[in-house]
This record gives sequence, C-alpha cells and structure tokens, in this order.
Amino acid sequence: MKDNKKEVLIELKNLNKYFKIGKEKTLKAVDNINLNIYRGETFGLVGESGCGKTTCGRTIINLYQPTSGQVIYNGIDTKGLKGKELKKFRKSAQMIFQDPYASLDPKMTIGDIIEEGIRVHFKDLSEKEIRDRVTVLLKTVGLNAEHSARFPRELSGGQRQRIGIARALAIEPDFIVCDEPISALDVSIQAQIVNLLIDLQKKKNLTYLFISHDLSMIKHISNRIGVMYLGSLVEVSPSESLYKNPMHPYTQALISSIPIPDPNVNSADRIKLEGEIPSPIDAPEGCKFSTRCRYAKDICKKERPILKEVEPEHFVACHMFDKMKEK
Ligand code: SF4
Repeated sequence: MKDNKKEVLIELKNLNKYFKIGKEKTLKAVDNINLNIYRGETFGLVGESGCGKTTCGRTIINLYQPTSGQVIYNGIDTKGLKGKELKKFRKSAQMIFQDPYASLDPKMTIGDIIEEGIRVHFKDLSEKEIRDRVTVLLKTVGLNAEHSARFPRELSGGQRQRIGIARALAIEPDFIVCDEPISALDVSIQAQIVNLLIDLQKKKNLTYLFISHDLSMIKHISNRIGVMYLGSLVEVSPSESLYKNPMHPYTQALISSIPIPDPNVNSADRIKLEGEIPSPIDAPEGCKFSTRCRYAKDICKKERPILKEVEPEHFVACHMFDKMKEK
C-alpha cells in the first residue's frame, strides 16, 4: 500500500457488538470502535484471546449485526442490506477461518467446496468454465487439479488452509478477514501460508483484516496494527512504529513478552502483567486496563480514555501517556 494513495475501504463508526448473558448481564465484545481500513492494506488486529477480535471481524463482514454504530463499506452502510446489495457485499467481503478442518464440509469434495461460491455468484458460467476456475484456484494456492476430487480428511492442515484461501478467492473478493489463519498450523507451514497471502494481496490488490494473538507474525504481514483489550482499541499505529515505540502500557507488555532467541537478552527486562484479565461482562470502570496497569492513577479508575492521535498515524488511549513519556 502506498501511503500517498490511501483510499478508505471500511469505516467503523462507534461500532458496538454486545451479547446478552442471562437477564441482567451484557458482554461488550466490541465496545465503541472507530477505525478506517484502507484499500490494499493489511490491518492487523492483535490482543489476548477473548478480547473481541473475532467478533469485530465477524461484525464487519455482517455475520453479526452491530448492536449500534456503523460499518461503512465502500461508502455504503452495511446495516439492513438486502437482496442484490447484500449479495454484492457478501461477494466482496470474505473470511478465512482459524480451523481449516472445521470450516470445510467433510462430506464435500475439494472441488465442490470451491465451486459452491462460484455457482452462487457467477451464474452465467458453463460447467467447463467452473471446473477451469477451480483448477486455476488450486494452482494459485500451490495445489493442483487432482486435489479437486479429494475430501478434506485426505489433506494435511496446511493444504486444508490453502483450500480455505482458494474458497475465499473463488468469488473474487476485495476484502478478506483472516481470522487466526495460521494458528492451527505447524510452525513450518505458517510462513508458507503467510507468504501466500502476501503474494495474493499484491497480485489481486486485496485488503486484509488479519486477526492474531501472535505479535511476531502480525508484525511481518501488517501495514498497520490495532491492539485490542476487552473489546476496545487501545492503540493503533503503523506496524513499525508500534514495535519501535509502543505507547500504551498494555502494548508495551505484549511486545516485551515476545520471545527473543538471544542469550544476551535479559528476560528480567520483560514487563510482567500483574493480575487476571477482568471479565468482559464486568469490565472495570474508567480505563479497562487500570486493574493491571503499573502507571494507573486515580483518574484512570474514573474516566475511560479515548483514542487520540499522539504522533502522525499513531493513536493511543491512555490518560498518562504524556507523563510516561517524561519519565
Ligand atoms: Fe494505565 Fe491509566 Fe493509561 Fe489506563 S489510562 S493504560 S490505567 S495509565
């Protein structure tokens, strides 16, 4: 993505997705998120499990309806899309799932799985044209035509994830939510899949929302990164400056926990997060991170900090940001 050609593809405005738990409790899985995602970029979304990353991705592609707020896609509010408009949106926005085995129907052949979307969205194609497309897609993801007749159980984890990618690409989307697409794979296969996604992005000008808890991998693939904590974004920044200069205490702790294979690096320098993650059903008042933050002051327990741009393109939600800089 060239910085001087930024075009907003997705705009999240005060986006909320809540789930009712019993009669009285509410889980704020996505809590007031404001964000732009630019065409052609990879936006990485990172945070501990249960922080709302997947719910955010699913809400963006309309698998969940927002509780309130807006998802503006290509200039159109996705709320209430119906008929042809909804179909057009579904064709443009796809998802690659975390568990390639669970996301593929075990009773269908690989060919049938990939064809399914093509048949829905390209009704004018002949049977031969559909089969040819499947072959091209299999080759695009590093497999070949003979995989078409196989079943998911006959493939390795890495091959299954390649099928998940081929299925998403089959309907020629513009935007793909990659939901922890490599976390179920062997380490040796992870880099292959990430490199495939990067290669496809360049060739097809795809936009990715790449969800992960793996900070080192997300750095490799993302142009910009958003750090989520208990449903909210606490820091958004270009990838490089996030790692060089993390500003939120939570981001600082996450980055300091990345293992460094160097015996000269002292693990005692790592920031250890104290305390348990609070329940998202009962998040602290004020700053949600205040129960674990070593810089917390009185104001942090009373007022929720909002995301502010503190350097060009670098946003942080922290009351004490300036004070920490002075230290
Ligand atoms: Fe810590 Fe306060 Fe900043 Fe929250 S607002 S991260 S509690 S210093």
